Amino acid sequence: MSRVLIIGAGGVAGVVVKKCAMLPEYFSEIHLASRTVAKCEKLQEEAGKDRVVGVYQVDADQASEVAALIRKVQPDLVINVALPYQDLPIMDACLETGVHYLDTANYEPKDEAKFEYSWQWAYHERFKEKGIMALLGAGFDPGVTNVFTAYAAKHYFDEIHYLDIVDCNGGDHGQAFATNFNPEINIREITQRGKYWENGEWHETDPISVREDLDYPNVGVRPSYLLFHEELESLVKHFPTLKRARFWMTFGDQYLTHLRVLENVGMTSIQPIEFQGQKIVPLEFLKAVLPNPGSLAEGYTGLTCIGTYVTGLKDGKEKTIFIFNNCDHAACNAEVGAQAVSYTTGVPAMIGASMMLQGHWMKAGVWNMEQFDPDEFMERLNKYGLPWQVVECDSPFKR
Ligand code: NDP
Repeated sequence: MSRVLIIGAGGVAGVVVKKCAMLPEYFSEIHLASRTVAKCEKLQEEAGKDRVVGVYQVDADQASEVAALIRKVQPDLVINVALPYQDLPIMDACLETGVHYLDTANYEPKDEAKFEYSWQWAYHERFKEKGIMALLGAGFDPGVTNVFTAYAAKHYFDEIHYLDIVDCNGGDHGQAFATNFNPEINIREITQRGKYWENGEWHETDPISVREDLDYPNVGVRPSYLLFHEELESLVKHFPTLKRARFWMTFGDQYLTHLRVLENVGMTSIQPIEFQGQKIVPLEFLKAVLPNPGSLAEGYTGLTCIGTYVTGLKDGKEKTIFIFNNCDHAACNAEVGAQAVSYTTGVPAMIGASMMLQGHWMKAGVWNMEQFDPDEFMERLNKYGLPWQVVECDSPFKR
């Protein structure tokens, strides 16, 4: 018997719900709650009422509301696929009720575009004392990229030195401008200053100012820009031999031109402004007029390619490997009615949950993905829709 409560009913949640519903051997009972209950009902309809047995309205900014719902549903695990703002109230509710927790993105305060693990790592002792576990960042990046790194370190190297995580969306959704996951969270992330780790310290760069043209398997050459991404913070902590760790994401010229215009006219700001007698946040308004990422799936073509270049030493010799997955937008739509960015996030969340519920990864405290043995998780990626490959290659990056 394994009962899960999934919170959130957006693009990623749709994939988590449907993949969990396909696996009654791991998830015997699924409950779904979100801010807008109609979205839960729609997903329940699509996944089957025999599998999603309860839907609920909840404001997950309120820990007390979440705790009351947990008491009613009595789940073994809460899967948080709402927004990063809800991480702490949901963790508080899990602590209060003694239930395990999993999420896909680290906490961000709503009024400051800043993300770091300090807030969630601060729960470690309390989760440990309560005898419950939190698994943080169980999406693709963060998530699978952390596990790829752990797998490389375990099977291919004696010591790892250089890490470059690369995230390419080579797909085409046919829209002039759209984001592939929650627009507010996405735009906050990419308009921040870039940051990477080198020789024991963080170095900052102007936003989207450092470019490499990288060749992605089955996609081709794409302009890729250095960004700060949350898994860098945990990976440099847990792999202290790393001399440098960076993250790269592809953006097309059309996307960047739109983004620059939106920034220049103030539409990406999170400072509230007065508009016709009420306060509005420009970025929240922008989110309301942009396409819903979940709606992009129909007609989306092409592949994503997300992976991890690792360079290090094996038997005294330096080598580089690239571990990656290609994911096809159209195939994801055919399987679960989602585009590949939601799919590549939702499938690892489902797998992470199955690993916890079956006891493969179960340890009281707050943990990142790379802190567990990677092998069974890697097996399950192959089995449940995200097959990966490892190639030995020359590093495409300069020292
Ligand atoms: P969406 O905006 O599509 O969905 C978010 C859902 O959360 C919506 O259903 C929304 O409700 C619900 N929600 C928001 N606020 C509350 C609240 N206060 N109480 C209850 N429910 C709430 O986002 P995505 O599905 O695109 O993203 C989900 C998460 O996945 C995000 O945290 C994102 O950062 C993360 N992510 C992680 C990735 C990774 O690889 N690790 C990659 C992509 C995303 P409503 O429908 O009412 O708006």
